[in-house]
Amino acid sequence: MPQPVLEEIRENLLSFRGSGMSITEISHRSALFDELLHDTITRVKRLLGFGNSHHVLFIQGGASQQFCMIPMNLALPGRPVDYMNTGVWSTKAIKEARIQGKDVRVIATSEDREFSYIPVDYTVDQDASYLHFTSNNTIMGTQWHRYPDGKVVPLVSDMSSDFMSHPIDVTPFGLIYAGAQKNIGPSGIAMVIIRDDMLERVPDTLPTLLKYTTFHEHNSLFNTPPTFTIYAINLVLAWLEETVGGLEQVEKINRQKASMIYEVIDKSEIYRGIAEANSRSLMNVAFRLPDSESEQRFLAEAQKQGFIGLKGHRSIGGCRASIYNAVTLNSVKSLAAFMEEFEKTSA
Ligand SMILES: *Cc1c(COP(=O)(O)O)cnc(C)c1O
Repeated sequence: MPQPVLEEIRENLLSFRGSGMSITEISHRSALFDELLHDTITRVKRLLGFGNSHHVLFIQGGASQQFCMIPMNLALPGRPVDYMNTGVWSTKAIKEARIQGKDVRVIATSEDREFSYIPVDYTVDQDASYLHFTSNNTIMGTQWHRYPDGKVVPLVSDMSSDFMSHPIDVTPFGLIYAGAQKNIGPSGIAMVIIRDDMLERVPDTLPTLLKYTTFHEHNSLFNTPPTFTIYAINLVLAWLEETVGGLEQVEKINRQKASMIYEVIDKSEIYRGIAEANSRSLMNVAFRLPDSESEQRFLAEAQKQGFIGLKGHRSIGGCRASIYNAVTLNSVKSLAAFMEEFEKTSA
């Protein structure tokens, strides 16, 4: 979370917009909340530059719930569902589609080299209901820099870890989803952007709370949403628009941040990037040191100097710097300097 947003939350926690009530106390059916929700949706549309072609929904259950809802709602009868497998999160999404007995085709995978790259060799098939991919692979630190061709088939993307980190054209996307907790707010919700034509696919037979149409028809207020989370998302989006200056600006900063660390890695004798160079993520820089003993020393020394959370995901180990929108240029500068210093002193 950006520091100014946390400060604003602290400032106004007891009285939301001068109402004398906390955001955690006002009714989700009140005009105050309605206005907040409307403003949040408007900000999403303005930041990403779209209008009535797509709808913004807030759905509980995080990104993982979307793994299950997507095939349930968007698979067309008798047609396959296509997936790209680029890591742990893609694998989980594929598993959920298979559990439902869908005709799942994995049209490209980077499993052969431990998910260290983004596949370029694949053919997009227009027979598929949709093509699913994970735009940024949080654990291995790879990122799609050129999306598959969405003119052929509707694209569906898990953008949890790079949502709102750079501009995108939503046109080819049937659905975009993102767990809020990486780049746009606290946990508790997935933001879903769904194209209007996708709503026609939703089978009537699904349980009410698992249908995208329920969330669309009730403007995400069929039941009580996590109001505090939506409030915090609203503040993060306002910060993005008004303080940072929009998505082109945030991308510029994110590029600067990532290149500072990759530069240290590239000229280093001890750090080794996990992702192949052309697939590198601007959000998660994953790297290793020569052995686990030196990784332990690196992490311990980092912690001592106030760099917390550099340990790689438990599934692959190593180290990882997650430099989401809220991480400042200055923090990344300090981290890069620390990494250089550690290399010098440990040689
Ligand atoms: C963190 C993450 C998830 C899981 O999100 P939950 O909200 O915890 O379900 C899914 N996909 C990606 C790419 C992630 O980074």
